[in-house]
Amino acid sequence: MIPDSNETIFALSSGALPAGVAVVRLSGPATFVVLNALIGTLPRPRFASLRSIRSRDGVLLDTGLVVIFPGPASFTGEDCAEIHLHGGKAVVAAVLSELEGFDGCRIAEAGEFSRRAFENGKLDLVEIEGLADLLAAETEMQRRLAAEQSFGRLSAVYDGWRERLLHARAMVEAELDFADEGDIPGSVSDQVWPDLNALAGEVRKQLEAERAGEIIRDGFKVVIAGSPNVGKSSLLNALVDREVAIVTEYAGTTRDVLHCELDIAGFAVHLFDTAGIRETDEPVEREGIRRALGTIAEADLVLHLKDASAAAESVDFVHHGDVPVITVGTKIDAITDSSPKHTYDLMISSAQKVGLDDLRQAILQVLREKTYVISLAIPSRIRQRQHLRDILANVEEAVRSADIGLELRAEYLRRASDSLGRITGKIDVEAMLGKIFSDFCVGK
Ligand code: GDP
Repeated sequence: MIPDSNETIFALSSGALPAGVAVVRLSGPATFVVLNALIGTLPRPRFASLRSIRSRDGVLLDTGLVVIFPGPASFTGEDCAEIHLHGGKAVVAAVLSELEGFDGCRIAEAGEFSRRAFENGKLDLVEIEGLADLLAAETEMQRRLAAEQSFGRLSAVYDGWRERLLHARAMVEAELDFADEGDIPGSVSDQVWPDLNALAGEVRKQLEAERAGEIIRDGFKVVIAGSPNVGKSSLLNALVDREVAIVTEYAGTTRDVLHCELDIAGFAVHLFDTAGIRETDEPVEREGIRRALGTIAEADLVLHLKDASAAAESVDFVHHGDVPVITVGTKIDAITDSSPKHTYDLMISSAQKVGLDDLRQAILQVLREKTYVISLAIPSRIRQRQHLRDILANVEEAVRSADIGLELRAEYLRRASDSLGRITGKIDVEAMLGKIFSDFCVGK
């Protein structure tokens, strides 16, 4: 059910209680009436003012800062207010219950303030998604990526494209509709094809950065693989510095795929420990190995561990397709003269914590190569990427050849506009009409 936007909504907008301060936010047409009943005269807009907050029957509930934001210059575009309370559970409960008693006033649903901001044109879908990511960001790179979206820089890129597409469509439509009137030269739309070609190039560049956006937002998948007992679980534990995987000296202990998260230089890294890969008839272990191979296939990077201290080299069953691999010689503290004379990309001892920083740096180097982008105003969600692909396909079709006829080319451009509109949530029928009427004197 779509929530009623005539109602005034309120919610505790700050975190879990108890806390130093709790912020209750209100938005909607009754905001100032309600506030007036609680605090008396309203403070000056956008200036914090210390007030007593009383129930309607005069009981003092708390004292705190109150800020009002008259619409449309507010987060939601409606009249809004913030009440900064002492962050005690009973204080907040008393104020929320008082608010609930007002007519047309109810507790907000999840995301409803943002939804109203979107519906009132304060934020587009990309900014809303960015805002959600900003709140969920755990690493510095996730924060930076989300900031580009939530503060509107990615939307600015899409808005620029939208303008150009609209202009191009207006020119093409004008040529289609008014070519016979003589005042619009027949080749007027020809001017737009070079720009659309450039636009296609820009969309392509954005799509090239899609993997970078995905890695930064969702994390970089590093899989630790190797034969049983080479020290995979020990490495996982050493890297996260706590006991995550059970380490034993019996081969075949890790039967499932263990997973933990690291923050390497601000990047979220998902580290997977897998079952050692070997030939076995034991059904549970076989299932573990099947899952391990699946995880390796989806990895961004494989750390292929080999026991550098083993008396003899064991047969290795790890196959990693075309995923980048770092071969790591383990247990270097236990190397003897009879150990295999192998070369590895890196050598470590999890037991003695040797080589772990080099390993982190090696992971970071691959990570940086895979996420190298000039700007972080890049798509980070499947939804955005799918629409970008549609835009590209349609603009390319429109640009490709004049043989298909101007009507068909116009149709491809309309579809491209539609897909772009779906990314930001801005639908373009009105804008298109406006553009046509402003660019050409077609009414004469
Ligand atoms: P996995 O089966 O590949 O996960 O290997 P484990 O991490 O369970 O380790 C297998 C055995 O090797 C255990 O007895 C560990 O204590 C031992 N081991 C792991 N890393 C090191 C190391 O750096 N040095 C030494 N000397 N032994 C290690």
